[in-house]
Amino acid sequence: MKATLGRLPVYLRYLKELDPAENGNISATIIAKALGLGEVQVRKDLNSVSGAGRPKLGYKTSALIKRLEEVLGQNRISKAIIIGAGKLGNALLEYNGFANYGLEISAAFDIDENKIGNTEFGKPIYCLDSLEEYCKAQEIKIAVITVPAAAAQSICNRLTDCGITAVWNFAPCQLNVPDGILLQNENLALSLAHLKLQMNNQ
Ligand code: NAD
Repeated sequence: MKATLGRLPVYLRYLKELDPAENGNISATIIAKALGLGEVQVRKDLNSVSGAGRPKLGYKTSALIKRLEEVLGQNRISKAIIIGAGKLGNALLEYNGFANYGLEISAAFDIDENKIGNTEFGKPIYCLDSLEEYCKAQEIKIAVITVPAAAAQSICNRLTDCGITAVWNFAPCQLNVPDGILLQNENLALSLAHLKLQMNNQ
C-alpha cells in the first residue's frame, strides 16, 4: 500500500498535464508507457483506487483525476504541526511535498526563544507555551516530534492532551501513547541500512 501511495501523486500529476480535449479516456498502457512503469503495476494501482478501467476505453480521465485527488486528500487539507524547530524540524517545515498527500505543516513550536518568529519561507515558529491554544483554535490532529529524545515523551503527553490523535516521531526513543493514538516512528538510518542490506544481498 505504501508503494502504491507513493505512485499515486505521479499518476495524478501526469493526468493533470494532459489536454482534456484530447484525452477524455486513458488506458493503463498509455500511462505506463509515459511514466516508464510496468503496465500490470499501473493497472493494479489504479484499480485499487478507482475500480477497473473499461475494456478498450480504459479510464475516464476526469473521473480518475477526481478519485486520485480524493484518495490523496487533496480536497481536504489536514494541518499538522512540528515540535522542535531545529535542523530536522526546519527541513520538514520547509518541505512542500506534503501537499501531494493533502497535508500541510502549518507551524512549528520550540522552547528556544531565538527560534521564535517567521522562517524565511514564511512559516511561523511559536513558543511552546502557545501549543494548547494553537491546537485547539486550528483543530490540529497530527503532530511531528523532532525534539531531542529526552524531551520527546513529555512533549508527546502534552500533544495527546491537546487533542492530537496521530504522532510522527523522529526522536530516537520508544514513546508510550494512550489507546487510540496513532504513533509512527521514523528512522532514516534504518531506511539507509535497509538499502545497504539489499545491496549486499544482490
Ligand atoms: P536540533 O538540536 O537541531 O533540534 C532540536 C530542537 O528541539 C531545537 O530547536 C530545540 O530548541 C528544540 N527543543 C528541545 N527541547 C524542546 C522541548 N521540550 N520542546 C520544544 N522544542 C524543544 O536537532 P535535530 O538534528 O533537528 O534532531 C531533532 C531530533 O530528531 C533528535 O531527537 C534527533 O535524534 C532526531 N533525528 C531523527 C532522525 C530520524 O531519522 N529519525 C534523523 C535526524 C534527527
